[in-house]
Amino acid sequence: MLIRKVRYIGIIALSILIIVSIVYSENKKVFSSDNLSQELIICTSLYPMHIMALNITANVPNVRLLSITPPENGCLHDIQLSVTDMKILDESDIFIINGSGMEGYLEKVASSFPNLLVIDASEGLNLSHHDHDTNPHVWVSISMAIQQVQSMGEQLAQLDSGNKDIYLKNTEDYIARLEELKLRMHQDLSNLKNRDIITLHDAFPYFAEELDLNILGVVQRESDSEPSARELAETIELIREKEVKAIFVEPQFSDLAAQTIARETGAKVYALDPASSGPIHPNAYIDIMGNNLQTLNEALKE
Ligand SMILES: [Zn+2]
Repeated sequence: MLIRKVRYIGIIALSILIIVSIVYSENKKVFSSDNLSQELIICTSLYPMHIMALNITANVPNVRLLSITPPENGCLHDIQLSVTDMKILDESDIFIINGSGMEGYLEKVASSFPNLLVIDASEGLNLSHHDHDTNPHVWVSISMAIQQVQSMGEQLAQLDSGNKDIYLKNTEDYIARLEELKLRMHQDLSNLKNRDIITLHDAFPYFAEELDLNILGVVQRESDSEPSARELAETIELIREKEVKAIFVEPQFSDLAAQTIARETGAKVYALDPASSGPIHPNAYIDIMGNNLQTLNEALKE
């Protein structure tokens, strides 16, 4: 009886030891990056977060950067995670999200992968003084992108503290370049008299707010369908009434509706890129915004 009891206790003790060592090794994966054989897998939810993370994790040893949405997809709203997405998340240690309400599937992720560490790049962002605090396209404003980079960099430095200095240095360097871009955009656009724009989708409220552009109308609120006949008619009327000269479409979406409006009104169609998709390159966001600057100057000059 006593022997059986001792054996029983022994089995329990061994089980506890195994569980503890599994949990410990799981945690170790994230927190001890000085162990050279271990890889830290970071997954991003969205293209602009991927470009930020690419800059912040540059030269950090043993980091692998993944993404659940392919870069050509753009920002898909209300998406369901695919089997492939779930596999990628299962493999990941850290999941970086845009936040601000973009990732509607977050609760599902949290319950499916309780050990996955989530970095919300919108943490600390105060949207309450904006008129559009339910619009998730915060990164399209360079000021807000800078705050997201800051937040992402600090959170990564905290989670992977062995490489803290590299993350913080990268963050500082990238922010300096973004500040430069912001200054250039403000200076270049400061003399425009015509600041009225019409956009096809609703990705630009923070961008316009920052650059003091006036969005007179958004052709359609829902980005995944063609605008209705009524939306088209209303926009055409608005353009005629306000003598709007430029309609901006996103390269990620069909410009069929914009071309129809242009034919009816004589307004010209230009592509303005919300940087929700593009090439996987550290300079991509800055390049895209540089192109937007040229487009705005071209479209809005007298
Ligand atoms: Zn979007």
